[in-house]
Amino acid sequence: MTLVTMMTAHYQDILNDNFWLPFTPNKDFRNDPKLFVRAEGDYYYDPDGRAILDGVSGLFASALGHGRKELAEAVHRQMLTLDFTASFYRGHPGAFAAAKALSALLPPGLDRIFFVGSGSEAVDTALKIALAYHRAKGRGGRNIFVSRERAYHGVNFGGVSLSGLPNNRRNFDGVGPRVVHMRHTWLAENRYSRGQPGHGDFLADDLLRLITLHGAENIAACVVEPIAGSTGVLVPPVGYLERLRQICDRHDILLIMDEVICGFGRTGRAFASQSFNIRPDIITLAKAITNGALPMGAVAVSRDIHDSIINAGGEREIEFFHGYTWSAHPVACAAALATLAIYQEENVFAAAGALSGHFLQRLFALQGQPLVTDIRGYGLLGGIDLAPAANAGQRGYEVQKKLFDAGLHLKSTGDALIIAPILVTGLERIDRLFEILTRVLSTIK
Ligand code: PLP
Repeated sequence: MTLVTMMTAHYQDILNDNFWLPFTPNKDFRNDPKLFVRAEGDYYYDPDGRAILDGVSGLFASALGHGRKELAEAVHRQMLTLDFTASFYRGHPGAFAAAKALSALLPPGLDRIFFVGSGSEAVDTALKIALAYHRAKGRGGRNIFVSRERAYHGVNFGGVSLSGLPNNRRNFDGVGPRVVHMRHTWLAENRYSRGQPGHGDFLADDLLRLITLHGAENIAACVVEPIAGSTGVLVPPVGYLERLRQICDRHDILLIMDEVICGFGRTGRAFASQSFNIRPDIITLAKAITNGALPMGAVAVSRDIHDSIINAGGEREIEFFHGYTWSAHPVACAAALATLAIYQEENVFAAAGALSGHFLQRLFALQGQPLVTDIRGYGLLGGIDLAPAANAGQRGYEVQKKLFDAGLHLKSTGDALIIAPILVTGLERIDRLFEILTRVLSTIK
């Protein structure tokens, strides 16, 4: 019996063929299953009780670490008080409280909150809000969106149309809203830039070229991740986002920032748009909004956009025909409220900012390791490009598996590794993360 067969046999009481894993090579998983059965603090535990350091906050979600009792208690209480009501025609206190608590973190005036169930729903909702806004303003012809190569905006049809990742578009191209793409912001001359690269603001002028080609009167919004996360952490060059903002202002194009990964302290401030000092018209959020404890997303909208849509409807008319059964789910709202309270009480965002210097120092010390071809990082978010093997993506996938076996959970996208430690982690766990990573990288041929 091979080791793999023995391992699979060992997990037979857990595995079955019914569960279809998302974004996973399912056949390989069956042969070599990687399972978590428990989590606490910075660690996951496999069925054998082996501790695996969480180097990516679950999936950019568990900013406060795993198993927080305050969240479990808030969720438990809410389940016994009001387990569920939809928010169609009805409200509940948690929804109003969560919206208020969230607004307190957001830039002034960006404080009208539409709750959804995930990041993908937040993105598609933001696109619909942009269209509804322009219609309310009598600019109904504006229905083109501008996105970017290498962008990730979730997997619903709006997000897939925005996507700049070929594998995510393949099979689904040509369906969904009309989207045109700017170039991505990776430049060879910026390799190993720590923080924002100094060169590349000119790439924002792609938006001007698209305006010339398609006409500003046809463009609804420009959608960008402040830091393009899922593609391997592309930090915006100095001046790039500022230039996008100026161009959008000049042409009445909305600027939507997708902060599903960057939001809630990842960059050392509540939101990356604050770290980069840019005021978007709409921000999309999810993941760490509940510390990953329950599914939830949100769209934060400027008062002007909100009021334009609401005031376009009559007194007894639904102004915006959109929403989900789980929009403002009472239990998710309770989890969000408890999470946001901890962010504030423990000063989590500033603490993350303070840890960033050490994190980036350890991250950039990997320069010169075999296989490493570029490193990027900002706040507590890092990306490492690895030299590809025979097939694109194979190296990243194999390294990610080896890291798991060595006791570290990281995300790979293509041949890039992504690191996003728990925000309340300590120096010694940052060191441990990089010790494992260095050891594994040094053994790969
Ligand atoms: N937008 C961005 C920037 C993301 O990184 C993600 C997920 O990683 C999404 C949207 C989609 O979020 P979800 O997986 O919750 O639908």
